[in-house]
Amino acid sequence: MARRFSVIFIPEGDSKVRRVRIQSGIVKSIFCCCFVAFGLFAFFAYSYFNLTVDRDELQRLRVATSQQRQTLQHLVADLEEVHRQMSALADTEARVRQLANLEVIPQGIPVAIGGLPEVEPIEGVDDIQRQINQLQVEIELRRQSQEGARNLLNDQVSLSRATPKGWPTKGWLTSYFGMRKSPFTGKRVMHEGLDIAANTGTPVIATADGIVARVRYSPGYGKMVIIDHGYGYRTIFAHNSKILVEAGERIKRGDVVAKVGNTGQSTGSHLHYELRLNGVPIDPRKTL
Ligand SMILES: [Zn+2]
Repeated sequence: MARRFSVIFIPEGDSKVRRVRIQSGIVKSIFCCCFVAFGLFAFFAYSYFNLTVDRDELQRLRVATSQQRQTLQHLVADLEEVHRQMSALADTEARVRQLANLEVIPQGIPVAIGGLPEVEPIEGVDDIQRQINQLQVEIELRRQSQEGARNLLNDQVSLSRATPKGWPTKGWLTSYFGMRKSPFTGKRVMHEGLDIAANTGTPVIATADGIVARVRYSPGYGKMVIIDHGYGYRTIFAHNSKILVEAGERIKRGDVVAKVGNTGQSTGSHLHYELRLNGVPIDPRKTL
């Protein structure tokens, strides 16, 4: 049953009271409209608020993106610089290897001369990360390669220092390495070293770094010194008048180890100089 509402207008003064009758449906409609209008207002207000917040956020993000782009550009420049330095290092290593005649280049090492391959274009953080990983691998390989080169060089230096070289005393050659007629027996025998004539007391010097292996007197060789140089090399100095070192002493090339003399089976003051490689006498003349 439809209900009615009455709205009574009571004017001031003498005017008549007015009464308006309204059906309940209309009242409900008015309420509904008000409710919908309020809802719409709230929705638009909320949307507007959100829009403002989004706009600020967008602005902030734009600034942040711009800063990140600049950071990225700096990183790219830094990476390119690191690549250049790596390339320079590789060049230097290649030159060192060439100078030292180290021809063996370990596997996996990029060919150094002419620089490393071009730097790949960088689009984003992932590319940078990938290049950093790649650089880390390259640095490790480069480190291993340089360590290898250093070891090879050290070996070469050690070998060079341990290889007998130069004259063991100041004098002149009187007898060569090889078969000769023995001055004592007249028979042809092998002379396993060089005879260098020099005045008694002339310094006898080590021709390579090493350790004194033996100091002794032998009826044939007289007062003798044997120096072990490693790498299979040994030198023997015989007929000395005096020995100045002891067994076990570490010797550098150029150190005075004895004095020339005429001890043992000798026909005059001279140094008998022998060079052995793995126990086999070799001609020391090539090393003088
Ligand atoms: Zn001799």
